[in-house]
Amino acid sequence: MEIIPVVPRGYCKGVYRAIKIAKETVKLYPDQPIYMLGMIVHNRFVVEACEHYNIRCIEDKDLTRVELLDKIDKGVVIFTAHGVSLEVKAKAQAKGLIIVDASCEDVLKTHQIILEHIPNGDCIYIGKKHHPEAEGACGLGSNIYLVSNMEDIDKLPRLHNVLITNQTTMSIIEIQKLIDHALRKYPDAKVADEICNATRIRQQAILKLKDIDSLIVVGDPTSNNSKKLKEIAKQNIPNIYMIETVNDLNEEMFKDVERLAITSGASTPTYLTEQIIQMIQEYDKTKILNKKPIEIDKILD
Ligand code: SF4
Repeated sequence: MEIIPVVPRGYCKGVYRAIKIAKETVKLYPDQPIYMLGMIVHNRFVVEACEHYNIRCIEDKDLTRVELLDKIDKGVVIFTAHGVSLEVKAKAQAKGLIIVDASCEDVLKTHQIILEHIPNGDCIYIGKKHHPEAEGACGLGSNIYLVSNMEDIDKLPRLHNVLITNQTTMSIIEIQKLIDHALRKYPDAKVADEICNATRIRQQAILKLKDIDSLIVVGDPTSNNSKKLKEIAKQNIPNIYMIETVNDLNEEMFKDVERLAITSGASTPTYLTEQIIQMIQEYDKTKILNKKPIEIDKILD
């Protein structure tokens, strides 16, 4: 079996930076409780590793980030790479919390584009409902309309001087269809396609793969960028599996497979992906899959 690790894959610059900031915050405030407002990235092992460093992750999928702040009364709050709304910033300040902002520069660039536009016109933001990045961007003003599909666009009211922009981790194929659909309704709209470079090049690397029988995407089931890699791969690869760790591998995944590719989302720890690649290489020689311990202290490396 030919094993093809896809390049690039795994942690993006925004995630590296957020993890670095979180580790530095622990050193900087040894006597303060430290909270992460939401999951630093959508990967449960990263969250567990943060807790190992005494960073408590405050998460509840039914609550917004503004509501999650009610669970923090003192100490340090770290904003994740997804960015936050103006209301979250104001509320954290009003509560007297020490704010550490790990928002990704690419997300902040989208915020800037939106903030410059909305005093003079409306904004259509293409993103995922209840996703923290969409919540942060749409919380920048009252004339930002979140849409996730064509039906949402059809339901939009009459808007003026429209800007169409989007969440950084959307699929490069899906976004074009949604932008085109919005442009049919608002032909004079300006478009700022804000899929970030990390997302784009990971998805393009999948589309460039040729004659692959199966693809393994390493990622958490809640990770949008990992799910989009899986979605994109449906264009050119017949069998796609999304797994979290080496212990999710099974023999069925390799049956009749001659060329197997492996990739991982921008929020997936390098350690987890490398462990999987190594195990598949071993399996190719021995036809044995061994269970492996997941060492939490290697997750943030
Ligand atoms: S996926 Fe893109 S926007 Fe999100 S943290 Fe990574 S680089 Fe930043």
